[in-house]
Amino acid sequence: MNLPIFTIIVPCYNEEEVLEVTIDQLTAKLSELIKQNLVSEKSKVLFVDDGSKDRTWHLIYKASLNNEMVKGLKLSRNAGHQNALLAGLFSAKEASDCMVTIDADLQDDIHAINEMVKKYNEGYEVIYGVRSSRESDTFFKRFTAEGFYKLMDKLGVKLVFNHADFRLMSKRAVDELEHFAESNMFLRGIVPLIGFNSTSVCYERRERLAGETKYPLKKMLAFAFDGITSFSVTPIRFVMLIGCLSFFVSLLFGLYFLTLKLFGNTELGWTSLITSIWLIGGLQLIALGLVGEYIGKIYKETKRRPKYIVDVDLFNLPVSRKLINMEGADYEPISETRKLSENN
Ligand code: UDP
Ligand code: MG
Repeated sequence: MNLPIFTIIVPCYNEEEVLEVTIDQLTAKLSELIKQNLVSEKSKVLFVDDGSKDRTWHLIYKASLNNEMVKGLKLSRNAGHQNALLAGLFSAKEASDCMVTIDADLQDDIHAINEMVKKYNEGYEVIYGVRSSRESDTFFKRFTAEGFYKLMDKLGVKLVFNHADFRLMSKRAVDELEHFAESNMFLRGIVPLIGFNSTSVCYERRERLAGETKYPLKKMLAFAFDGITSFSVTPIRFVMLIGCLSFFVSLLFGLYFLTLKLFGNTELGWTSLITSIWLIGGLQLIALGLVGEYIGKIYKETKRRPKYIVDVDLFNLPVSRKLINMEGADYEPISETRKLSENN
């Protein structure tokens, strides 16, 4: 049997605190898989530096010199987690039969990879890593994350419950992923649309090894909002429904105030009148904002901007230039990133 060439893809943004441990653990895991005859000796671990401002690229580059298994891909600037994953997948796919994506902080259990590769060898093409418990997460993170999955389900978006971006995909699935031309790629929503033979593997999610989360509340909310508006038009329908309801309610109020007026008690109505002006005004603004949000999305999509730009690709030498999404990430001049990583 031909063993599959396997690539582990790791997005890294300012991960200098954990990276050395991560490199050690993942290369050890890959050696173990090779030894167990589960994957080919040509398998690699590909670290994608998503425009880090610290020593992340320096560490990746150094490791790639010392260890054949370690490869690096440096994006020209911070393109965001999802784009970093895409950059890694698209760069690795030509030379790989299957790929696993996993976060650099090793919150996801690397031992689940064995099970994933076994399932791949059994013929599955997409294997989702699913958290069996969220004990290591704070109450807030658990509450918001699980609420998000439930809300998405209600809105008709089919997500795999408690699955994030720890998954194995075959080359064929990644090839299909490339056909999704939208610039806002919410992978958790898109991968299930690819279909093929899929299954999941359970694991326990741990705490971050070191460093802090790169998803503060602001980014988390933006990510959830993007996920919802990229996949569902239900919010816009909901707003219309509220609009109709409030129109109906204001009719009732109108009747009520008219009756009061007939009995000569007009000043009574002032409070309710001013309240309803604010209420309707508010509702209209929400509705306008939501419509604007969707129009904004259409505007962004029509531009067809590159999703990312690769600066250095140690995986596919000679250096190739490939494109990635500029939206949704803080802008930072390229020259500054270069200077920083060269100084280190
Ligand atoms: N990450 C990235 N680009 C970003 C933000 C995050 O590549 O702009 C990476 C980060 O280095 C990590 C993964 O995405 O490997 C998930 O981030 P994190 O662990 O901070 O998120 P959390 O687990 O707290 O949701
Ligand atoms: Mg994490």
